[in-house]
Amino acid sequence: MEELKEKLFAKKENGWKTVDTRKKEEIFKVSEKYMEFLNKSKTEREFIKEARKLADENGFRDIIEFSTLKPGDKVYFVNREKSMYLAIIGEETIENGMHIIGSHVDSPRLDLKPNPLYEDTELAYFKTHYYGGIKKYQWTTIPLSIHGVIVKTNGEKIEINIGEKETDPIFTITDLLPHLADEQMNKKLKNGIDGEDLNLLIGSIPYTDTETEKISEKVKLNILNLLNQKYGITEADLTSAELELVPAFKARSLGFDESMVAAYGQDDKVCAYTSLLAMMELEKVKNTAVCILSDKEEIGSMGNTGMESHMFDFFISEILNKLQINRPNLLEKVFCFSKMLSSDVDAGFDPIYASVSDKINAGFIGKGISLNKYTGARGKSGASDANAEYVAWVRNVLEKNDIKYQIAELGKVDIGGGGTIAYILANKGVDVIDCGVPVLSMHAPYEVTSKFDIYSAYNTYKAFWKE
Ligand code: MN
Ligand code: MN
Repeated sequence: MEELKEKLFAKKENGWKTVDTRKKEEIFKVSEKYMEFLNKSKTEREFIKEARKLADENGFRDIIEFSTLKPGDKVYFVNREKSMYLAIIGEETIENGMHIIGSHVDSPRLDLKPNPLYEDTELAYFKTHYYGGIKKYQWTTIPLSIHGVIVKTNGEKIEINIGEKETDPIFTITDLLPHLADEQMNKKLKNGIDGEDLNLLIGSIPYTDTETEKISEKVKLNILNLLNQKYGITEADLTSAELELVPAFKARSLGFDESMVAAYGQDDKVCAYTSLLAMMELEKVKNTAVCILSDKEEIGSMGNTGMESHMFDFFISEILNKLQINRPNLLEKVFCFSKMLSSDVDAGFDPIYASVSDKINAGFIGKGISLNKYTGARGKSGASDANAEYVAWVRNVLEKNDIKYQIAELGKVDIGGGGTIAYILANKGVDVIDCGVPVLSMHAPYEVTSKFDIYSAYNTYKAFWKE
């Protein structure tokens, strides 16, 4: 009986049970590198900057530098410092299709409004507009850092990163004390904090000199004076800026057994980093290997750095041009024969909130890479539903490489749903399945993943490209 069960039942095993001491060291080493990378890459611009550095160190070059391409060439294209595509040209003709892995490097956060600075009751604030799906109450009373760029009309770009170094100040959004919060506490959780109240506290000392006795807004003046001395900017320069508030915490190992990673922005930098790392370690590939690091996924993949733009088609067209094989409709043909892992995170089953998941179809942290045949909300609405033939092909790759995986859904039928960039590539004719790391507290300032799953993602992506 035991034997028959072993043979016939699908296995969903805790990955750690299969790990010996040597393997555990290897798993921890990959997570160590991941956490180091995360600490330098909290925003899409920072991630792309670091990714480009890594690519340069590993023999990749900007596609602009190539006049022709041949198998084995390693190229990349950086789109406006916020998204990036990398490729290794395959030994086989690209007409047989590419193997694409696509993740996103933007994460939920608070952006500064175009006119952010104001003073109220001798306190200075920055007004914000949140980016992506957040639970607003989670973003008050935590240390926040400011990252991004300010661009002056003369084109000068000032890079800002304040709140990460131990010697830097941090910023925070205040919340009401419980003693006076009776009315607030009786609101629905989602209305507890208004979007317009997510204002960042940035200063409290008024500007003083004898001539300014009569002028108003002296705290604001003092802040602008400090910014002017440090960066040479005026208030108007903040309107041509992209400044993002992100949690000032560092990525850390979690638990007595240090089996997990707690960090900001793991959706989707955990898949972005593991796929990037896997690509850096590839040499020759049969099919052209492509790595997408996209932007704007959290707000619908719009804009010219989002996956909905034609920039990716442009990159692949450039490859076809430089392979000197391009002709009408070849791009469409290449897409139709391509395969893709949409590498985005999955909701990890949380026993504290078990009621939102179907335990039989949930992704669990520590059980390996999680595949979503489809995402979509309530009745698969808006989902890219992977073909059974393709799911079987992917399963075969995973099984022959001895990689632990689980096939899951994002929450219960009437509750669940989400979206990734999968449908965008599927619309071009690519075979796509969602394939990523399960996360606890997704979209919160501090998200949790399992080191086993991080390692499993890295192995999955490497095996997919080597196939
Ligand atoms: Mn995501
Ligand atoms: Mn997300």
